[in-house]
Amino acid sequence: MTSTTAQASEDTMQAVVCHGPEDYRLEQVSRPRAAAGEVILKIGACGICASDVKCRGGAEMFWGGDSQPAWVQAPVVAGHEFFGEVVEMGPGAEAHFDVRVGDRAIAEQIVPCGKCRYCDSGHYWMCEVHNILGFQREVAEGGMAEYMRIPAKARLHRIPQALSLAQCAFIEPLACGIHAVNRGDIQLDDTVVIAGAGPIGLAMVQVARLKTPKQLIVIDMLDERLELARRYGADVVLNPARDDVAKEVRGLTGGYGCDVYIEATGSPTGVRQGLEIIRKLGRFVEFSVFGKETSVDWSIIGDRKELDVRGAHLSPHTFPVAIDLMARGLVTTDGIVTHELPLSEFEEGFRMATAAESIKVLLIP
Ligand SMILES: [Zn+2]
Ligand SMILES: [Zn+2]
Repeated sequence: MTSTTAQASEDTMQAVVCHGPEDYRLEQVSRPRAAAGEVILKIGACGICASDVKCRGGAEMFWGGDSQPAWVQAPVVAGHEFFGEVVEMGPGAEAHFDVRVGDRAIAEQIVPCGKCRYCDSGHYWMCEVHNILGFQREVAEGGMAEYMRIPAKARLHRIPQALSLAQCAFIEPLACGIHAVNRGDIQLDDTVVIAGAGPIGLAMVQVARLKTPKQLIVIDMLDERLELARRYGADVVLNPARDDVAKEVRGLTGGYGCDVYIEATGSPTGVRQGLEIIRKLGRFVEFSVFGKETSVDWSIIGDRKELDVRGAHLSPHTFPVAIDLMARGLVTTDGIVTHELPLSEFEEGFRMATAAESIKVLLIP
């Protein structure tokens, strides 16, 4: 037990380290230890997010360009869709984290600074400093590793034992979906359109169904995903490759258009389509991150429809809600979490995450 080899393996661990665009490496790095107020998680799984794929691909929003400065601090262990078991608590950590050694827990992706005007007014998810786990080494390394250090300022939540591994790993995407749906302020007699049935879009479908709108319509280019959307409670599914979406939505709403449109496609087409099929005075929720700029007739928003355009960023106050919805069996990951791979196969995982046959891919340390 005290041999040097055993010692070495206890002090180091495997991790997927982001060094730059197209440069992610599986490395042996030193295992983190908990300082005062901190917690160490033994990672159970870490999902690959579309943002991880975009970051690896070198997207400007991560690495900077003409319009914005670089945001990622490399080298950094990637991954923000993690959960794990608490294996170590630093001095004083019990004072601000409601967990004990042996509990399963998850930290929100943002680590609020606690000092800026947003943090100060309770809008911690818009924190001006905006440190996100898995991208900014300054606060901590990410979750694509065997162990992870949770900084004292993180927002950590305990996970009940009843949740499966897939459910635990899906808490973060679900929490983001819940916030976007909440922004739509869905009423009982609303016709709601969700555009984009990726992992978070499919979470939104299940959450929007729980709000019991009059009609729930889901739009996507992939029929397999529309099938899932139907299973999760969509009343109508439309594929723009085949259906005249605008005509169908008008037909379903007495010619008016939908009351709420939640944009989760990440494509400029999804924005233009929404502005076309939403009714006057409707609520347009923008959730996506875009790889390119979108051009629209901006006068639709004011002069023609007086729209309520609402952004949705991260998952403020919705982690406990996500955990509760899954614990109560109201949201499922069946059909959404499609692949589980060991950390060593992360390259394959990233490739799979963009393939049509997968929805959510997990890395298991
Ligand atoms: Zn994500
Ligand atoms: Zn702040």
